[in-house]
Amino acid sequence: MRSAKLVAPRQIEIFEDRMPLPGEGEVLVRVKAAGICGSDLHIYQGERADVTLPRILGHELVGEVESSGGGANRFSKGDRVTIDPVVSCGSCVSCKRGYDNLCSTVKCLGVQVDGGYCDFIVVPEEKVYALPSSLPWEKAALIEPFSIAAEVLSRSEVREGDKVLVLGAGTIGLCILQAMKLAGAEVLTSDFVESRLEKAKELGADVVVNSKTGDLSAALREFTGEFGADVVIEAVGIPRLLEESLGYAAPGGRIVVLGFNPEPAKIPEVLVVKKELKIIGSRMNCRKFPQVIEWFEKGLVNPEPLISAKYPFEKINDAFKDILRDPQKYLKVLITY
Ligand code: MN
Repeated sequence: MRSAKLVAPRQIEIFEDRMPLPGEGEVLVRVKAAGICGSDLHIYQGERADVTLPRILGHELVGEVESSGGGANRFSKGDRVTIDPVVSCGSCVSCKRGYDNLCSTVKCLGVQVDGGYCDFIVVPEEKVYALPSSLPWEKAALIEPFSIAAEVLSRSEVREGDKVLVLGAGTIGLCILQAMKLAGAEVLTSDFVESRLEKAKELGADVVVNSKTGDLSAALREFTGEFGADVVIEAVGIPRLLEESLGYAAPGGRIVVLGFNPEPAKIPEVLVVKKELKIIGSRMNCRKFPQVIEWFEKGLVNPEPLISAKYPFEKINDAFKDILRDPQKYLKVLITY
């Protein structure tokens, strides 16, 4: 089988590898499509200290079941599935409490262990989910990014009618926007890329603001009647935006962060205290695939406008290079097999 390995920063090579075999409780999946995530771009450029090379990236995966190992009997050959990339041990305190994404040895497929930029991948059966029969591969590959949004949604404790500020209209920001609208929130989305703001409008944002050319603070005051945002989502991952979020949040507001930037943000304690703010982390997803698959099945979210380009497997290195040459041009880029 073919496998695309990141062998050095900015260098993916395609190898011919032996096909893996599913062990006890595992399923062998023939990958049909995979997304390229912002985190993959960081890893590709050698920016993630927790990733060792060589590594097969790819955690936004859909495919067909090829075979199952002993004790795994939920799927048959040819079943169309997606894979939750959160790898958890199942026995530590966090896992026993139900927080797979906070497992003491948590890993993500395609990040700290090999992922799915290869023809076949073996995964635990409990991480495999059946796809709705009518859902095409390309759209289904967006289930994982929406699972990030589903996690943010639950972490944010958003209520109907809440005013939500989403900082960033990249793929994840646009998934979060859609999840927030589903929950009945009103959403202001900001970004500095005009084409992304147009997508945000198309996908239901009540207000969009170009943070470079417009006045976000003024727009937020108008949007919230001077009160501030009940929920601020920092969907870009830069410390300065977390600092600014404290000013955007309403009294009693929640700020959700999901970036992996290791640089410290300067957060005045007094601001957190005075407004009784909650700063909430949101990591990958915790068993959100069933919920997201239901969103897709019922057509409650719209993944299609998020797909910017598709590359055949052999051109995977070109895909990464093209995105990095002009990052603002792309939302989700898919690899097809
Ligand atoms: Mn992702």
